[in-house]
Amino acid sequence: MTGFIDRDRAVIMHTYSRLPVEIAAGDGVYLTDTSGKTYLDFFGGLAVNSLGYGYPSVREAVHAQVDRYMHLSNLFPQEPQIALAERLVAASGFDKVYFANSGAETMEAAFKLVRRWGSTRDRSAIFAFSHAFHGRTMAGLSLMDAEKYRAGYGPFLEGCQTLPYNDIAALRSAVGPSTSAVVLECIQGEGGVLPLDPAFAAAIRDLRDQYGFLVVADEIQTGMGRTGRFLASEHYDFTPDIVTLAKSLGGGLPLGAVLVRSELAEIFGPGGHGSTFGGNPVACAAGIAVMDALANGVMENARIVGELLQKGLMELKSRFPNHITDVRGRGCMQGILCTHPAQFVSDHCLRHGLLVNVTRGAVVRLLPPLIITPAHVETALGHLHNAFSDWHLPA
Ligand SMILES: *Cc1c(COP(=O)(O)O)cnc(C)c1O
Repeated sequence: MTGFIDRDRAVIMHTYSRLPVEIAAGDGVYLTDTSGKTYLDFFGGLAVNSLGYGYPSVREAVHAQVDRYMHLSNLFPQEPQIALAERLVAASGFDKVYFANSGAETMEAAFKLVRRWGSTRDRSAIFAFSHAFHGRTMAGLSLMDAEKYRAGYGPFLEGCQTLPYNDIAALRSAVGPSTSAVVLECIQGEGGVLPLDPAFAAAIRDLRDQYGFLVVADEIQTGMGRTGRFLASEHYDFTPDIVTLAKSLGGGLPLGAVLVRSELAEIFGPGGHGSTFGGNPVACAAGIAVMDALANGVMENARIVGELLQKGLMELKSRFPNHITDVRGRGCMQGILCTHPAQFVSDHCLRHGLLVNVTRGAVVRLLPPLIITPAHVETALGHLHNAFSDWHLPA
């Protein structure tokens, strides 16, 4: 074996269940393995590769910035950070940006901002929701309830509690004047592509009006145009106070951003928070290219092609009622809820050249690049159809 799967096992800590594929290169919406087999990628680097692989303007921006400088201390104002923040502010309607390097770091920053804001207002309670995913730091884990992420890492941070998602009565009886924040995903990603109920969003808005707490939208997976709007929260009748972005923001490079309104922008103050690498200029240069691509038709494409994909998945659901109980999501973030653990589907697709992901056991999750065409959707639906046809359920 000349492959690198064995070498990986030998020297890399086993924190991921690796796919048995050795990727050699990526091009557009396709990956090629070392044997020359190509895969249509509806896995999308877990929502990072929203422009697929080798998107020309991202590559050009990265190369150009590498030649200028790859790092300056955050004690300098940096043009790529500023230009990206200007685009984020314009696209989102928020006022100011804090840059981090990853999703978990943006959640950590949002958590600290909420804590400091609450510290002078006698508010310490932070609520999040069951099956949420907010990253692997202790702050993230403190906002999650899934044992698979938390086991053995306690004690967790004080004042954090998870409530059942989309349960208005539970939320109403939990929040009050000592609540500092409610943290949510507008579509739970790892939690099974589960959308926020519009009535629940309205209840959050009304309770916030009543009690004055902050709403943090974790848009690390749902943001950056994935659902056909820049932020998934735009599909709802409420505006969060704090939004976190990461995943596709850096076009494949590590980058995260926290967006706030001006009222919250002074909470940290100089020295109140920071990161050596946060807002790395090369990552920000890539981010600028991503934002420009979204504005120049990619986000619109995500909406149109996403609708096509969802329509096709609905047809699949009516054709395989014993296998599929629900199709849910928005735009280029779709989940197929199966009646049984769905590993068979992802394995079958992998063998036939389509990459899909399974989350929470029975949900086939599709996170294709936002640049897919109707022809790619047709191909993917064909593979999925074949997988469900071949899937003989236990009697
Ligand atoms: C991926 C993800 C995170 C964590 O991001 P990392 O970059 O892996 O730290 C947090 N929240 C959501 C909703 C995510 O999808």
